[in-house]
Amino acid sequence: MFLLLSMCLLGLLAPRGDAQDRATLWRGNDRSGRCQYTFAVASPAEASCPQAGGPEVEGVKARLSLLEALVSRLTGGGREARPSAADSGAELREALNQAVDERNLLQGEKERLERELGALQRRLEEMLRETERLRSRPCPPQTPAVPDGGLMRPAAGSSPMSHLMARPNGQGDRSSLRDSAWQQGFQELKAEVTEVPAPEEYTGCGVLVSVSEPVAHRKADGIAGKYGVWMRDPEAVAPYGPDMVWRIDTVGSDIRQMFGYEDTEQLSKGFPTKVVLLPEPVEGTGAVLYRGSLYYQRRRSRTLIRFDLASESVAARRDLPHAGFHGQFPYSWGGYTDIDLAVDERGLWAVYSTSEAKGAVVLSRLDPHDLRVTKSWETNIRKNAVANAFVICGRLYTVASYAAANTTVNYVYDTESGRGRALAVPFRNKYRYNSMIDYNPTQKKLFAWDNFHMVSYDVRLGRPVPAA
Ligand code: CA
Repeated sequence: MFLLLSMCLLGLLAPRGDAQDRATLWRGNDRSGRCQYTFAVASPAEASCPQAGGPEVEGVKARLSLLEALVSRLTGGGREARPSAADSGAELREALNQAVDERNLLQGEKERLERELGALQRRLEEMLRETERLRSRPCPPQTPAVPDGGLMRPAAGSSPMSHLMARPNGQGDRSSLRDSAWQQGFQELKAEVTEVPAPEEYTGCGVLVSVSEPVAHRKADGIAGKYGVWMRDPEAVAPYGPDMVWRIDTVGSDIRQMFGYEDTEQLSKGFPTKVVLLPEPVEGTGAVLYRGSLYYQRRRSRTLIRFDLASESVAARRDLPHAGFHGQFPYSWGGYTDIDLAVDERGLWAVYSTSEAKGAVVLSRLDPHDLRVTKSWETNIRKNAVANAFVICGRLYTVASYAAANTTVNYVYDTESGRGRALAVPFRNKYRYNSMIDYNPTQKKLFAWDNFHMVSYDVRLGRPVPAA
């Protein structure tokens, strides 16, 4: 192009005036969109350019070759060389043969499916005719084979489907059934069912029969709430009502705060209406509320404290005689659960152990006013072998595991008889880390703190079986 342009310019600059008469000027955009001017003039001496090509022609040739190769690949199945007309014809014939074979195959498959469809339609028609035939046949009276109120009975001599179609009520002849053996049997059965007594609701102070699935009321939001104690006073006194819920998060070494909520709904929402600052730190998860006082174990001691909620002051304090504390006789969970207080229908209790008892659970009845031990029982239960304990109607119950999702209330000790026995009442640790379980005799519920979750369980009590 440069050569061509140079020649043209030389021609333009030549003194021959006739060349200027054939000069042309083009103006247009190049590939990048820029305006380009092209000035051309015919050579005054040459009829044609001596060069057969130049860079531009070579470029066109190269692009043409690329296009040819592309067309070849597209038409020749990727072969480098362009197929000859004979090759193309052979390929077309081969493709045609393949298409014909596939068409024949599909045709065969279609015919097979049509045969199957025909067979299915014939079977369906047969079944519909059989159904109509059975519907039109009267039902012979019979003794029921299945005592379910007459919904199903076999009809001898009929097809295997017939017993599914035969219903004495509705399609059968009622008058023929009235005196039948079937009807008699049905009436006798009905009478028997009516006479089965309904399960008796025992409302007295009984033995534990079952524990419901846990209901979660709140999940603690801070790490201090991984374990703790929550409770309602079963015999609340002013200024707090019976709906008031109290909570102590017990993670930490200086536990002094107790949060009060108007009811369980407020607990769920997380809005305490009262914060009580305790004068002495709490240990373990064994605190209880009873008759307007909080009872708890003072940290690193066997001292029990009765904190009066109305006056917000210590009303009584007393050592629990010989009680182990601060990790000496905890439950299997640990957590300094050496002294576990409990409330039931009969009053205030302490569950603990002593050196004299060598780690066996000691149950003591306490005077709720001054914390004196009024009576003690020594059991055969190893305290560190059970997860927790609670008292219902003067009977101590232990839970086997604090971590197993499905565990049991595995032992009961009766303070009246002084005897214990193994139990297997299913108990669920839904969140697999149950650090506190207490009974509320007014709510008839167990309150528990299971891995940040404050949960409750309904309990069902049954009539005590007299000791043999
Ligand atoms: Ca307990």
